[in-house]
Amino acid sequence: MILQEKNLKPEGKLTQKRIEDTCEEHKRKTRNRITSKDIWEGIKNKKILFRMKDFIWKLIHNHHKVGNWFKRIPNWQDKAICECGKVETMDHILIECRLNKSKDIWQEAEKIWKENNRDFKWTEPSVNILRGLGAIKLKERDKIAPNWINERYIEIVAETTWIIWTTRNKRIFDNIKLTREEAIKKWKEMISNKLETEKTIIKIEDKIKKKVEMQKDFDKKWKRNTKHEDMEKT
Ligand SMILES: [Zn+2]
Repeated sequence: MILQEKNLKPEGKLTQKRIEDTCEEHKRKTRNRITSKDIWEGIKNKKILFRMKDFIWKLIHNHHKVGNWFKRIPNWQDKAICECGKVETMDHILIECRLNKSKDIWQEAEKIWKENNRDFKWTEPSVNILRGLGAIKLKERDKIAPNWINERYIEIVAETTWIIWTTRNKRIFDNIKLTREEAIKKWKEMISNKLETEKTIIKIEDKIKKKVEMQKDFDKKWKRNTKHEDMEKT
């Protein structure tokens, strides 16, 4: 379904409530306000890949068929419960579940964030942070984060969320269970591939001025993390 078509649907009260909660949580965690308009616009953020735009749209509308969704289906109620014994909410899947190695993977994300950002603390992700991810505006005391800092957070968090979600799906649907080491390796490969892709895009840019800007932007965001490119080999 095309993103624009989805946005034209009338918002239900529950969606509005999730949007309000998202605004509240962003304010509480980043000490900066975002509006519902920012959240809808944020889905279109160019730093978020299409698969994650769709994922965030579904998070806002609670469209993922997990947890309590199964409680309404006769004979499927047991699917509401994660193998670890908890109700499988999206927060459980993405932030808490030890079977998805969620906490281990988020720790890695926090580590690379800290390598390049001493001025802006790591904002702990949650489903409401994810719902407004594309609109996030980080702030530290009175200092408002420049765009590249926000973009860096968006890119790290979007990619990490996707890794955790696909790790969970492989476990549920294909019965593939990753160890902590395998999950972290998968995440590191993702970061490594992302950086490689960005470097290639800069390499093939033929407008010199734009190329210089892209390289500057890349260095600001990732220079201290480029060692991750070799992580697979180490
Ligand atoms: Zn679980």
